[in-house]
Amino acid sequence: MKVIPYGGAKTVTGSCFYVEARGLKLLIDCGMFQGLEERKNREPFPFDPKEIDYLVLTHAHIDHCGRIPLLVREGFKGKIISTEPTAKLARLMLLDASKVMYENYKTALKKLQRTGKVPEPPLYEEYDVLEAMELFKIRLAYGQEYRLSKGISLKLRDSGHILGSAFVELEVYEDKRHKRIIFSGDLGNKNKPIVHDPDTPSLADYVFIESTYGDRNHKGFEESKEELLDAIRYAIGKGGNVIIPSYALERAQEILYVLREFYEQGRLPRCEIFLDSPLAISITKLFTSHPEFYDRETYRVFLERNPFELPNLHYTKEVEESKAINSISSGAIIIAGSGMLNGGRVLHHLKYNLWREECAIVFVGYQPRGTLGRKIIEGAESVRIFGEEIAVRAKVFTINGFSSHADQQGLIEWLSYTSKPKRVFLVHGEEEKMKVFSKEIKEKLGFESHIPDFGENLEL
Ligand SMILES: [Zn+2]
Repeated sequence: MKVIPYGGAKTVTGSCFYVEARGLKLLIDCGMFQGLEERKNREPFPFDPKEIDYLVLTHAHIDHCGRIPLLVREGFKGKIISTEPTAKLARLMLLDASKVMYENYKTALKKLQRTGKVPEPPLYEEYDVLEAMELFKIRLAYGQEYRLSKGISLKLRDSGHILGSAFVELEVYEDKRHKRIIFSGDLGNKNKPIVHDPDTPSLADYVFIESTYGDRNHKGFEESKEELLDAIRYAIGKGGNVIIPSYALERAQEILYVLREFYEQGRLPRCEIFLDSPLAISITKLFTSHPEFYDRETYRVFLERNPFELPNLHYTKEVEESKAINSISSGAIIIAGSGMLNGGRVLHHLKYNLWREECAIVFVGYQPRGTLGRKIIEGAESVRIFGEEIAVRAKVFTINGFSSHADQQGLIEWLSYTSKPKRVFLVHGEEEKMKVFSKEIKEKLGFESHIPDFGENLEL
């Protein structure tokens, strides 16, 4: 059998693994490339989508599911396997992605018209998303075995990353040998609210493990919550606003969960909270309809009240409501996307607040290379937003304990349960970080690891 990474190789975006075994062809994830690698979404798939029998989706983040409608447009007719929440969340994420692409296209069209040029069309349209949703035919519970064909089966196990997220345990009986290959998907950070801690994996022959934070350890979640409260107290105390760029999926709900805790403990300063993202609003509603996926702590809260609701929380779905926030100069906590500042309503809020010393910009998520978020974190004195130079004077807080990704220690602990695999492949990470992680794996576990290239043929 062979596995070829066609995304998520030496990068954190575009996750896509091609697997061929016993004549069966499957993909694990089909994510969007983001940031510096966005152009890669325009390249043709290096395989024939028509020939793929199954697509296994680990979770609904766009860097794992974002190219599925494109795959369908290019002829994929196989079955998509996922958990129930992943299928529902993917629908919201992909519909939103198609909408954003269409709006960007319209704006570009208007601008370019004057030059006589035509912009590239969107990668796919809403129609393609709906077609793709028809192929989400197999919903698996965690641990349920599913037979793909003779000699090949798989299980989805809880990866504790976001609601419904999974890692994949693939079993292949080939050449009179039984092989177990594990694809980690994204692995969660322990002791976080809402989701469970990641399940421990089975013994494995080969492991593909994400390495987003392979080079470092996070601060504890409790400590990170206090940092968030400090940032809020700083800005509200100075008469400014707090901007929290956030992913719409999981991070936004975690922030609401934590703000609700502060509020109930009487520690949240007087403020108005805005969830300024139609996508995050829809996702938050969906979260409340799947309490069976919560961890024990969140479920206990759920029995009494909505874990994501506060009296001073406003959902601003409409554009006009969002624009109205611009006139608020103090006492607002604004949660908006995109989390990496590569578009979305958060850019408007930055334009109004980034240059004001009394405001706080709070990063609670990973900022890949080449993004505006990374520039601000790395100390840029000014940045360009909507063609305008904006000074960075607000206080910048980077809080990494909110991460939904396991840190080095978490990854190593998870990996240790696989016993001694024949080979560990490091994926979904930046190369320098993977090199650090590779050394650490060798030292702590004695496992050999390899960092595959995009398109590298890995014979297992
Ligand atoms: Zn993810």
